[in-house]
Amino acid sequence: MTPLIAKTILIVGAIAWFVIRWPHQRRSWKTPVSTNQRTMREKLLLTSNFFGLGVIPFLYAFTGFPRFADYPFQPGVAVVGAVIMAVSLALFYRVHRELGRNWSDSLQVRQTHTLVTEGLYRYVRHPMYSAFFLWGVAQLLLLPNWIAGPAGLLGFAILFGFRVNREEQMMVEAFGEQYRAYMQRTARLIPWVY
Ligand code: SAH
Repeated sequence: MTPLIAKTILIVGAIAWFVIRWPHQRRSWKTPVSTNQRTMREKLLLTSNFFGLGVIPFLYAFTGFPRFADYPFQPGVAVVGAVIMAVSLALFYRVHRELGRNWSDSLQVRQTHTLVTEGLYRYVRHPMYSAFFLWGVAQLLLLPNWIAGPAGLLGFAILFGFRVNREEQMMVEAFGEQYRAYMQRTARLIPWVY
């Protein structure tokens, strides 16, 4: 494992992520929405995520900027990062399939929305966000840079922190007691922990 291989893994992983998401993105544009909370606030949160997990690490991978924040590369750490990235991608793949037409990149309820409570959703209410956090950890371990490394975790934590209560509120409004009961028996991100 070398710094170049670690950067390449991050980029190939990001391409794989895009390939997994793209068919769902396309379908989501065609699936009618009944509640739309894609507000300016949401767009800012999505931008924060996009910078932390996309723009900043890519800039670093291709240009080395910001070089002053580099620290010594440790191959073993990067190997763990690569394994975590693979787990994150596998989760992404499964979660997209489980959510199906209910998926949205923002806060929206579809006209034909169904509440998913099985599969990964049996253990946590937000497995896709768990996968994003894992991706952030992978980025941290793959990039030996004090800015580009943690940027993903920070960008996604901002999105998650400002979104999750609103999302759960929206689901309660859409599914009432059914979602409240579901909240009672599940954790948010880490099974049985949080
Ligand atoms: N927070 C979830 C879903 C992310 S996608 C996760 O991390 O896995 C965001 C959209 O998913 C929201 O607009 C909401 O409408 C929908 N959603 C969230 N939880 C859901 C569930 N249990 N069943 C069906 N749709 C859900």
